[in-house]
Amino acid sequence: MINIVIFGAPGAGKGTQATLLAEKYDFLHVSTGDLLRQEVRLGTPLGQRAQAIMNRGDLVGDDIVVPLLDRALRQRSTLPDPDAAVDPWDRERKGLPHRPEGCIIDGFPRTVSQAQTLEFMFRKMERRIDLVVAIDVPREELVRRIHERAAISGRADDTEEVIRHRLDLYDQQTQPVLDYYRVSGMLVMVDGSEEISDTNHRICSVIDAKLNV
Ligand code: ADP
Repeated sequence: MINIVIFGAPGAGKGTQATLLAEKYDFLHVSTGDLLRQEVRLGTPLGQRAQAIMNRGDLVGDDIVVPLLDRALRQRSTLPDPDAAVDPWDRERKGLPHRPEGCIIDGFPRTVSQAQTLEFMFRKMERRIDLVVAIDVPREELVRRIHERAAISGRADDTEEVIRHRLDLYDQQTQPVLDYYRVSGMLVMVDGSEEISDTNHRICSVIDAKLNV
């Protein structure tokens, strides 16, 4: 079992990479952004509280995001993601490796306090974070990518002003989380400025090295 946290500013491609890794290694993929968007879509009380905050590009409160994360970590498959439902025999036919159950968390923690909360949650579940992968992309490239994505995503938080705000929040609140993990020796920085497949290869090498220790 290996538990991974994946980091990246908006536009760094952490959701894309987390999805690819979940498929390859059969990880449970938990994306707090996806979980929140699902609550919004379903119009649940949590979703109703989160919607305006997300549309502004602000971080929703821990009282909203932590229970969602906790629930997702306790179940094997959280989202109606067809890839997550690939059964073991199908994996064999596709030549995908069998791995012990592990998870990849994307979108959490975004603050140092959330990092402490995650540690506490994991301790209760008798798990631990084994690896923190941060996808590094220069700011100009992030802005370029988000603009490109905005044209097709239809996400209410992909507008010029909100994008700038989300990037600023990342610098202010989420960068310090990287220092938090750097100290513990769990952090690996990966260049994410090139193609999706290049970044994927880099991350897979890091994971494979960890799995083969
Ligand atoms: P991106 O990384 O492109 O900003 P995400 O899908 O990870 O996209 O997150 C979208 C929005 O969901 C964030 O801007 C924030 O409002 C909310 N969100 C996601 N994860 C968290 C979290 N851990 N804490 C607070 N808010 C969160």
